[in-house]
Amino acid sequence: MKFIFVTGGVMSGIGKGVVAASLGKILQFRGFKISTVKIDPYLNVDPGTLNPVEHGECFITEEVWDFKPVPDSDERVYRISEIDQDFGTYERFLGITIHPSNNITSGQIYLSTILRERKGRFLGRTVQLIPHVTDMIKERLFEIAQKDGLDVLIVEAGGTVGDLESSIFLESFRQIRLELPKHNTCFVHVTLVPYSKAVGQQKSKPTQHSVKMLQSGGLQPDIVIGRSETPLDDEIKEKISLFSNVPKKAVVSNPDLENIYELPLLFEKQKLGDLLCKILDLKAKLVSYSEVTNFSEWKKMVQMFKEADKTVRIAMPGKYFNITDSYISINDALEHAAVHQGYKPDLKMININENTDIYAELKECDGILLTPGFGERAVEGMIRSAEYAMENKVPFLGICFGAQLFWIAFCRKYLGLENANSTEIDKNTPYPVVDLLESQREVTEKGGTMRLGGLKILLKEGTKLYKAYGKKEIIERFRHRYHINNDFLTKEAYEKGIVVSSTDTTGKIINSIELNRPDHWMVGTQFHPEFKSRPFRASETYSGFIKECIKFKHK
Ligand code: GLN
Repeated sequence: MKFIFVTGGVMSGIGKGVVAASLGKILQFRGFKISTVKIDPYLNVDPGTLNPVEHGECFITEEVWDFKPVPDSDERVYRISEIDQDFGTYERFLGITIHPSNNITSGQIYLSTILRERKGRFLGRTVQLIPHVTDMIKERLFEIAQKDGLDVLIVEAGGTVGDLESSIFLESFRQIRLELPKHNTCFVHVTLVPYSKAVGQQKSKPTQHSVKMLQSGGLQPDIVIGRSETPLDDEIKEKISLFSNVPKKAVVSNPDLENIYELPLLFEKQKLGDLLCKILDLKAKLVSYSEVTNFSEWKKMVQMFKEADKTVRIAMPGKYFNITDSYISINDALEHAAVHQGYKPDLKMININENTDIYAELKECDGILLTPGFGERAVEGMIRSAEYAMENKVPFLGICFGAQLFWIAFCRKYLGLENANSTEIDKNTPYPVVDLLESQREVTEKGGTMRLGGLKILLKEGTKLYKAYGKKEIIERFRHRYHINNDFLTKEAYEKGIVVSSTDTTGKIINSIELNRPDHWMVGTQFHPEFKSRPFRASETYSGFIKECIKFKHK
C-alpha cells in the first residue's frame, strides 16, 4: 500500500486537482495502477446539495454507492453518486472510472462515528477525534487502497493547510506515515508562489509559512510544487528548498499553461516521475501499450490541443456563471469535441436575468448549448434561447434541464400549449409537459435522492443521436428528478416534428428528444454525456453537436 498525499498551501483554487491528476498520469506512464481520493472537509455528506455558484460543478459517477454509515446495518443507507468536481479532472486525465466512495467528506466521517456510537460500537469508551475519528479516516483510506490491487493511491486533501476543519485529516496522514514502512508514503505540498511587481521578484514567504504550518502538525513534505505565473527561477527554488527542508530537485515548477493536459509533460521534464519512484521505491513496470497511458500518445494529444486554431462560437445561456467552474465538464467536453475536429470552442456564457436581450446575445453564434440547472431563475430566457434555435436553425444541444426547456419551447410554439411548463417551475401550469418522475413521488429527503449515475439507454435507429453513437445501447450518467411527460407526446407532437431518440430499458422514461428536420440539428438529452468525455476520446453527443456547429459556421 503506497500513498501520495497532496496538500495545499497559501490559498485554495490553485489547481491542486490538476496536480494530483498529473502525478497520477506520470505514474501511469510508468505502468503503475493508480487511483485517486479526494477529501472534502465540509460537513455535507456529499456535494449534491451545494449550490454550483458556491462550489462549482457537481460531478456524477458511473456507479452509485450505497453508503452505510454503520457497517452491517441497513437502517441508514445514503446513495452517493454526486461528488467533487475534481473527480472530473481525475477521470479526464487518467481515463479511469472512479468509485464515489473515493470522495471522503467530513460529513461521512462524523456521521459514521456518531451513528456507530449510538449502536454501541464503542461501548464503554469516550469517543474522541483521536483515535476514533482518525481511525475512521484511515479505515476508509486503507479500504480503497486495498480494493483494486493498486500500486499507488493519490490522496488530495481539499482546503488549505491551517484550516481547522481539515486538520483531523492531516493528523490521519501523519499517523499513516508513522505506521507504514518508510517508502510507502510521499507528501507533496502545492503552494502559491506570487510575483511581486513592486520588487520584480517571485516571493517564497507564503510558501515558507505554509510549510511551517505543515511541519507544526508533524508533517514534512517530500516535494514542494510551486504554482506561479512563470516557471520558478533558480534562486527561488534554492530559497524554498532551504526553508522547507526539501532538496532543491524536489522543488517543482507549476507555471500557468496554455493547456492543463501539458502539466504531466512539464513534470516529466523536471524528472518528477523518477523522483516519485525513488521516494516510493517503485520500479517502472513493463505494460502493454494503451493509448491512454502511453507517454508519446499523451504528447501527441497535447500537441493536437495546441494546434487547434480555428474557432467555433458556442453560446451557453444559463445562470451559474459567478465562478468559472460551474459547468466545467461541459466546457471541457466542448473543447475535446472541437479540438478533435481542429477547432477551439469560443464560449459565450450568457448569464440570464430579466433584462437580457436573448436574441441580441445569440446573434452570431455557431451553436447553442442550453445548460443544466434547477429552479425557476432564468428559465424564461432559456426557453427563448431554444425558440431562437428553432427559428434560426442554429445547432442546439440541451443538457438535462436544457432538454426539458427545449421540450417546453416546442410545446408552446408548435402545439399551442400556452404557459406549458415544468412542475418544478410552475406547480399550477395548465400543461405540465415536464413533470416529476414516478419514482420521485415518495421522496422527501434531498441528498442523493435524484435519479442518479450511469444507466443503460436504448437509442432509436435513424435518429441524429443514433448517428452520433453508431450503436443501439449506451450508458450515460444522469442526475434529475423531473422528466419529459409522456402524456404530451401525442400524434400531433410527432407530426409537428418531435422525435424521441432514446428511452430507458422499460421504454417509459424518455432519455432524449430531437427535431425531425434534415436541415437542423436540435437535440436534447436528459443525460449528461459531458461526464464521460475524455481529451483523448471526445463524447459522441458533443462531437455530433460540434460537427454541426462547424457546418453552420461555414454556411
Ligand atoms: N431540475 C431538473 C430536474 O431535476 C434538471 C436537472 C439537471 O439539469 N441536472 O429534473
